[in-house]
Amino acid sequence: MGPLGHLSVGLAAKPVAPKVPLGILLLATWILDVLAIAFGFAGIERGGSAGLPWSHGLFMSLVWSLVAAILTSRICRDNRAGVVVGFLVFSHWVLDFVSHPIPFSSFSWRLWRWSYGHLLPSDLPLLFGSSPKVGLGLYNSISAIEATTLEFGMFILGGAVYATYVFKKKKAGRSQPA
Ligand SMILES: [Zn+2]
Repeated sequence: MGPLGHLSVGLAAKPVAPKVPLGILLLATWILDVLAIAFGFAGIERGGSAGLPWSHGLFMSLVWSLVAAILTSRICRDNRAGVVVGFLVFSHWVLDFVSHPIPFSSFSWRLWRWSYGHLLPSDLPLLFGSSPKVGLGLYNSISAIEATTLEFGMFILGGAVYATYVFKKKKAGRSQPA
């Protein structure tokens, strides 16, 4: 899934993790892609038919989620914050599981369209190297316009949840005696 879809989950999570800064919530939802970029540069992941086992494998995604949960609960001294951030990191894998494989290789930025020469094979490994790869392939079967609409829709929903939270908090702050 693209950035907007992932970030929308972070926005929507603010009411359940008020102690965690919004930036951290947003980063948590996107950290697996950040890792994929870093591992790509470092030559640890090659993508393609090998997939992205270290950043996007089911097993390693669970590991990263656990690491993020422990770090956050230590830093914020709040176990609930840790649990929420852990789930946010794992939400990335869940959304990618639904949407992957994404036909970026055949995407035209000018026409905002991907052309399916052939459907792509699943690309999310369960473990490493030669382990089975999964992915329900939503973006393999809808148009790029539909996928974009879906991501914007999710982002607007997430933004609405966040805006409602901020509005309620401000209102509560104002009604309290100074
Ligand atoms: Zn991803």
